[in-house]
Amino acid sequence: PGGRDGEVSKAQRAAAASEEVGGQPTIFSKIIDRTIPATILYEDDKCLVFRDVAPQAPVHFLVIPKLPIPRISRVGPQDTELLGHLLVVAARTAQAEGLADGYRLVINDGKHGAQSVYHLHLHVLGGRQMSWPPG
Ligand code: 5GP
Repeated sequence: PGGRDGEVSKAQRAAAASEEVGGQPTIFSKIIDRTIPATILYEDDKCLVFRDVAPQAPVHFLVIPKLPIPRISRVGPQDTELLGHLLVVAARTAQAEGLADGYRLVINDGKHGAQSVYHLHLHVLGGRQMSWPPG
């Protein structure tokens, strides 16, 4: 990465990420920079995977981009490769976690989606039978 367009885009999206939270970095930025602890399952230059602090299933982890995109409804064509990467990492981590019988992938967006942390994240839930529809 790098390059002028990339830098502008990153700055714009960092600003967007803070708009819902009064200009403060979210708790997930602090997990990325190790200011607060988390049980980390996987990391590379683009993403971080860690266990949810309040698991809703026997296995519940989150996959987040290091770039602070606030929510899925804010993504654009420039995010296509990154979003694909997050899904591949989610699937590979689920396999590593032994979820051979399947699992649920969830992205909550905004108020109606019951999003609480405005740093994009994929939930991966498994280890029990899920029901449908979700609440
Ligand atoms: P959302 O409701 O935004 O889709 O999901 C946010 C998730 O982040 C929740 O499942 C919540 O339990 C989790 N979470 C919130 N704060 C922390 C934290 O400090 N550490 C970890 N590991 N998970 C967190």
